Amino acid sequence: MSNEAPAAQKFEFQAEVKQLLDIVIHSLYTEKEVFVRELVSNASDALEKLRHTQLTEKAIYDDALELEINVTTDDTAKTITIQDFGIGMTRDELVQNLGTIAHSGSKAFLKALSEGGAKNTNLIGQFGVGFYSVFMAAESVKVYSRSWRNDEPGHVWTSSGSGSYEIEPSEGERRGTKIVIQLKDDCADFAQDWRIKEILERYSAFVSFPINLNAKRI
Ligand code: ADP
Ligand code: MG
Repeated sequence: MSNEAPAAQKFEFQAEVKQLLDIVIHSLYTEKEVFVRELVSNASDALEKLRHTQLTEKAIYDDALELEINVTTDDTAKTITIQDFGIGMTRDELVQNLGTIAHSGSKAFLKALSEGGAKNTNLIGQFGVGFYSVFMAAESVKVYSRSWRNDEPGHVWTSSGSGSYEIEPSEGERRGTKIVIQLKDDCADFAQDWRIKEILERYSAFVSFPINLNAKRI
C-alpha cells in the first residue's frame, strides 16, 4: 500500500465560498460569458507569474513550454477547456486558492450582498467573482495543475460547485493549469467555436500572451 499514490481526498469548501457558490449557481445573471474572461485573466496572471519566476529561478519544470493560452471546445461533449503553461498550483495551493476566499472581488461581492445588495442582480458583473464564476455555466469542473516546482507532482481538482471538491494525484501533466468545463445544457453554446471566438476577440486585446482557439491564433 505504501508505494501507491494516495487516493482522491474530499474537502468541504470554506463557508463563505459555499455562500458565494450558492448565489453564483442560482443567479439569474444573464452575462454568463464573464466566466471566460475570468479564466483567461487567471491564465494570463499565471503566465506572468511564471515569467517573473524565470528571472530568478534556474530549475523550472517543463521550462521550454511556450508562454501561451490554449482554448479548445467540443460541442458534442459540451465542454470547453482552457489551458495555460503558467506557474501552476501545488496540492496545497489548489486547496488554498480554489477552496477559500482569497480574491478581493469575491470579498467585496459578499460584503455588498450582506449589506442588502441581494436584490441587485448585477452584483456578479459589478464585482467579478473570479474563478468561482465558472459555476454559472458549469455542471462540473476539473482543474488539472502542475506547479513549476520540480518536486511537486500534478493533481486534479474536481467539483460541481455544491459544497465540496475532491483532489487526487494526476500523472503526466504539463506545467501549468488546464481547466475542463462540463457545461450545463442551457450553456452548451459556450462549446461552439464561433461563440468563444467572439468572446475571446473582445478580451484578447487586454491579454499580453498569445491565445489559440482550437489551434488557431486569435
Ligand atoms: P484572483 O485572480 O483575483 O486572485 P480568482 O478567484 O480568479 O481570484 O483566482 C483565485 C486564485 O486561484 C488566484 O489568485 C490564483 O492563485 C489561483 N489560480 C486561478 N487560476 C489559476 C491558473 N490558471 N493558474 C494558476 N493559479 C490560478
Ligand atoms: Mg482572477
